[in-house]
Amino acid sequence: MQLGAFDVVVVGAGFFGATIAERVASQLGCTVCVIDRRHHIGGNAYSELDAETGVEVHRYGTHIFHTNSELVWNYLRRFTDFTDYRHRVFTVAQGRVYSMPINLATISAAFGRQMTPREASAVIAAEAGAHGEQPARNLEDKAVGSIGRTLYDLLIRGYTQKQWQTDPRELSADIISRLPVRLTYDDRYFSDRFEGMPRDGYTAIFDRMLKHPNIAVRLGVDFFDVAETMRPQQLVIYTGPIDRFFGYRCGSLGWRTVDFEREVHDVADFQGAAVINYADEDVPFTRIHEFKHLHPERHHALAKTTIYREYARFAGRDDEPYYPINTQADKKTLDSYRTMMPAHPNVIFGGRLGSYKYLDMHQAIGAALKSFEHQVRPFLAGADMLEPMILSD
Ligand SMILES: Cc1cc2nc3c(=O)[nH]c(=O)nc-3n(C[C@H](O)[C@H](O)[C@H](O)COP(=O)(O)OP(=O)(O)OC[C@H]3O[C@@H](n4cnc5c(N)ncnc54)[C@H](O)[C@@H]3O)c2cc1C
Repeated sequence: MQLGAFDVVVVGAGFFGATIAERVASQLGCTVCVIDRRHHIGGNAYSELDAETGVEVHRYGTHIFHTNSELVWNYLRRFTDFTDYRHRVFTVAQGRVYSMPINLATISAAFGRQMTPREASAVIAAEAGAHGEQPARNLEDKAVGSIGRTLYDLLIRGYTQKQWQTDPRELSADIISRLPVRLTYDDRYFSDRFEGMPRDGYTAIFDRMLKHPNIAVRLGVDFFDVAETMRPQQLVIYTGPIDRFFGYRCGSLGWRTVDFEREVHDVADFQGAAVINYADEDVPFTRIHEFKHLHPERHHALAKTTIYREYARFAGRDDEPYYPINTQADKKTLDSYRTMMPAHPNVIFGGRLGSYKYLDMHQAIGAALKSFEHQVRPFLAGADMLEPMILSD
C-alpha cells in the first residue's frame, strides 16, 4: 500500500478520524486514506448484529449519543436519524435496586422512607458535614464529603474499588468531580439537550461518512507497518495512542481497560434495562449491558437476548486502552510527548488516544470539526505549519 498517493492519511476510523476524512473529501475535494488496525470501521463506537440473537451489540460497551452542541448534533444528523431513546441506569446493591445518578428516588430508597427535597438535602448535608470541612485527602473523603456516608457506602465504595482495583482511600481525590445529587425524581442519566440512538446503528453512520469516492479505507493495517510509504510532509491525522507514536521513549501512559463476557439467554428480556451497575464488592463484574433495550422501537423476533458482563482492570500495553488514569506521573509523561510534537509539523494528534483524554463521542466529533477548520483546511491550502492546538474538546 502506498500512502504517499493520497493528500491526507487518517490513522484510526473512529469518530475523530472519520469526521476529518469526511470533511476533507467532501469540502476540499482532496483524497484521503483511512487506515485502522482493527478489521472494522467505527473505532470504539462500532456496533454489529449478534448472529445468534439478531440484537445489535456494541462491542466496546454501551454507547449513548448525547450532546449540548447544536453544531455536532446537526452534523451527525446528516448521516443518521436518532430515536428518542433516553438512557436510565440502575445500581444493584445488597439485593436492592437504586436509580442512578443519585436522585430523590435513590435517597428515599437508601434511607427506607419517602423524603421531600428539603428533607433529603438536610440528611445529606448533615452526613456530609459530619465528615468535616478538611480538604479531601483521597477519593473516599471527597465522595463522603459530597454525598454522605450512607449513599457512599451503599452505591459508590464497592463499585469504585472494582473499577480501580484499589481501595478508594488510596485513590486521589482528583479522580472524581463532585458527585451529582438531584433533589427531584428526574432519573435521566444525561441531561443534555440532544440525546438518542442512531436509528440504523453506529456502524451505518461510519459507512455513510466514509462512502465518498475520495476516501479509501484500509482495515487490518497498522500505521507503523506502512508509515515508510508516505511522502515527506504529507498530512497525517493520528488518532492512535500518543506514547506509541513516539516509541514509548518517555514511558507508557496509564490506562484502564474493561473485559466483556458475552452471554446469550433464552429469554426475551434478561434484566429490563440497557445498563445495570453492580455496586457490591463480592460481585466480580461492574455492569451488565443488555443491548436490546437501546432499541425498544425494533422488533426482535427471537425470545433470546445478548448480554455483556463488564469487568474492569488496569490495561497492559497490548490491551485496549479505554479510560486514561491521569496520575501525576502520567501528566508528566504526556507533557514530555507534547514537547516532541513540534518535530512532526505535518501530524495532527487527535481523538481520545492521541490526546490522552476521555472524550465522549460528541467531544471527539466537535474537536475534529474544529481541527478541520483551524488546522487541516489551512494546511492543505498551503500553510507551511499546523496551527498548534490541543484537540480534546
Ligand atoms: C466502555 C466505553 C463506553 C463509552 N460510552 C460512551 C457513551 O455512552 N457516549 C459517548 O458519547 N461516548 C462514549 N464512549 C466514548 C467513545 O467511545 C469515544 O468518544 C470515541 O470512541 C472517540 O473516538 P476516537 O476517534 O477518538 O477514538 P476511537 O473510537 O478509539 O478510534 C481510534 C481508532 O484508531 C485505531 N488505531 C489506533 N492505533 C492505530 C494504528 N497504529 N494503526 C491503525 N489504527 C490505529 C484504533 O484501532 C481505533 O479504531 C465510551 C467509551 C468507552 C471506552
